[in-house]
Amino acid sequence: RAAFAVPTSAELRPGGADWMAAHWMPFTGNRQFKADPRWVVAADGAYLIDADGRRVFDGLSGLWCTGLGHGRREIVQAVQRQVATLDYAPAFQFGHPLSFELANRIVERMPAGLNRVFFTGSGSEAADTALKIARAYWRARGQASKTRFIGRVKGYHGVNFGGISVGGIVGNRKLFGQAVEADHLPHTQPPAGSFYRGQPPADAPYAQTLAEQLLDLIALHDASTIAAVIVEPFSGSAGVVVPPVGYLQRLRDICTQHDILLIFDEVITGFGRCGAWTAAEAFGVVPDVLNFAKQVTNGVQPLGGVVVRQDIYDTFMAAGGPEYALELPHGYTYSAHPVACAAGLAALHLLQHDEALARVRALAPVFEAKVHALRGASPHVTDIRNYGLAAGLTLAPVPGEPLKRPFEVAMRMWAKGFYVRYGGDTVQLAPPFISTEAQIDDLCDALGQTLRELT
Ligand code: PLP
Repeated sequence: RAAFAVPTSAELRPGGADWMAAHWMPFTGNRQFKADPRWVVAADGAYLIDADGRRVFDGLSGLWCTGLGHGRREIVQAVQRQVATLDYAPAFQFGHPLSFELANRIVERMPAGLNRVFFTGSGSEAADTALKIARAYWRARGQASKTRFIGRVKGYHGVNFGGISVGGIVGNRKLFGQAVEADHLPHTQPPAGSFYRGQPPADAPYAQTLAEQLLDLIALHDASTIAAVIVEPFSGSAGVVVPPVGYLQRLRDICTQHDILLIFDEVITGFGRCGAWTAAEAFGVVPDVLNFAKQVTNGVQPLGGVVVRQDIYDTFMAAGGPEYALELPHGYTYSAHPVACAAGLAALHLLQHDEALARVRALAPVFEAKVHALRGASPHVTDIRNYGLAAGLTLAPVPGEPLKRPFEVAMRMWAKGFYVRYGGDTVQLAPPFISTEAQIDDLCDALGQTLRELT
């Protein structure tokens, strides 16, 4: 621990559990964590550093957001400079130049036609913003009955009320109910045991009717009641579930044909994870609205946003009444926060000049081969999926304790010096773009060993 003056575990627990009682942790088994905490007190490159100075390989890039690695000097300095110059600016009715500059830099990386950016503070806020824009857009066009949304089973669009309504992870919704009218397309998971590498083929038997289910929902509700379809190009939180070739294009065609907006939630897939600026680019399908967050600042500052086609923006401008009137009564105290924008500009610059995307494309086949080599590691591994620098493994549930094995894998991996995420019945990997082949090898070898240890 010589290089880092970090507190030890013992120093971090003055008063033990009492000291930890006040903090209600998000998406965490609070009782388990407080009984057996896992501290992250510093980070450096591809490593998290725990309270004992141990370097833990960051196998999920934080929460899919720190692909460029931790502590990048250029981002740190940009944030330091900005916080000393303009630490906050009111986001409503006044502007600071960084947000305009960042919007331009983001638009340069978007598929042609997506060129107006609304900033939020997170991916969840981006989801609810996109849904609100979709409804208000149709209302502005005189089609106020278009209010319903269609999401996808196992989809994840954050945790705000709109996002959980269109999201399809039941566990995230069941305590809170459904706030917004939404239906769900089937998820695009191939049958267990398919072990598809990268994108599943178009002619896989399960693929044929997936997108066409949208036609059934349109027949049921009528397109005149449907505002938008929202999907992650591949689902991240569900454990990297990649749709078959042609699926997204078919959704695109049906939405166009029936005057329904198509929203891609690219909070995970955007800004490099696919080896492209967007999954829209990687899959060759352009949505009407594209949400981003996470990697846009390399996770250093909270920032998200929604990019829309110009004619959507123009519809609001045309319908907006006198010039001083608000065209969209929506926004957050931290929309376009100057320090977050500074981090975003620095991160985008690095993504470009580090050739990060090319690095992802070069590493992806190495990662794919190593991840799929885990197939025989344990009889409990029922499927493995990957795309770009993301992969998910499905583990057979223990009867009565369905989440036990993924949790056990993540804990054992942490003990071995590797951070991976567990979600539902899956273990998820998203190593940093700056990973070396040796680090990918070590991560997958440790995972293989851990899987072999499972009973
Ligand atoms: N949308 C997707 C696809 C995500 O993966 C996430 C977070 O993982 C979100 C939205 C929510 O983002 P946030 O946690 O920043 O609110």
